[in-house]
Amino acid sequence: MLELSRSAPGGSHMNFSRRALLKAAGFTIAGIGFRPVLEALGSGESSKIFADPRRLTGKRWAMVVTPGKCAPGCQECVAACHRVHNVPDFGNPKDEIKWIWDEPFEHVFPGQEARYTEESFRKRPVLVLCNHCDNPPCVRVCPTKATFRREDGIVMMDYHRCIGCRFCIAGCPYGARSMNFRDPRPFIKKINPIFPTRTKGVVEKCNFCEERLAKGVIPACVEACKEKALVFGDLENPQSEIRKIIRAQLTLRRKPELGTHPQVYYLF
Ligand code: SF4
Ligand code: SF4
Repeated sequence: MLELSRSAPGGSHMNFSRRALLKAAGFTIAGIGFRPVLEALGSGESSKIFADPRRLTGKRWAMVVTPGKCAPGCQECVAACHRVHNVPDFGNPKDEIKWIWDEPFEHVFPGQEARYTEESFRKRPVLVLCNHCDNPPCVRVCPTKATFRREDGIVMMDYHRCIGCRFCIAGCPYGARSMNFRDPRPFIKKINPIFPTRTKGVVEKCNFCEERLAKGVIPACVEACKEKALVFGDLENPQSEIRKIIRAQLTLRRKPELGTHPQVYYLF
């Protein structure tokens, strides 16, 4: 049987049966239209067969957060993110699952607070999320490649591969990952059927809404923010709004001294 070599998360390779792949895609060996499919598979274009033409593509996705624009007490972005991603609410901070949340300035930028500047931020918490680091320690320490970095910079989770060892939680210096110590499903207010729910023993975090990008839609948090405090885009595109912001203004990143190269930028 012909074998197809396809990249797996983390850059390793797996062998897939071409027949099994076609079957999974709904094609039969004798079916009309089989030849173009086979040609595409043979040319390494298999992923394009299934791609949505509306898909938003970028070479380096990133985000700019402007905390000063956030309306006091507003949680619209958090609610939107947690709703579309089936994030459970266990009702206690010990078990809390967080994809995007806010923290006091001094927790987000330790050592950067000064006696007087701090004053203006103390009452205005700063939104935090996974930084989709260029050099992510979480990826390096994961023994199963359940967490991996895509070419466009998004640090992903494959929930099926996660064995719950929590090495990634220990490795992330930003506290951006949460562990499901209990079955999360009974604690999801209303399940979004088009996004997977997780199980007990699985780690989760922000995915830059890769499932929405795949359908041509911007991240849920960015869409939900009426104040335009969040800007998402492709840093490799010189014409993108995010690139223009970063070119024109000085931004902060979290703990740059660690060499993780976070790709969430803060504008104050
Ligand atoms: S913020 Fe943490 S979880 Fe996200 S990529 Fe960086 S190290 Fe990994
Ligand atoms: S908890 Fe899951 S994602 Fe994290 S290091 Fe272990 S296997 Fe990888």
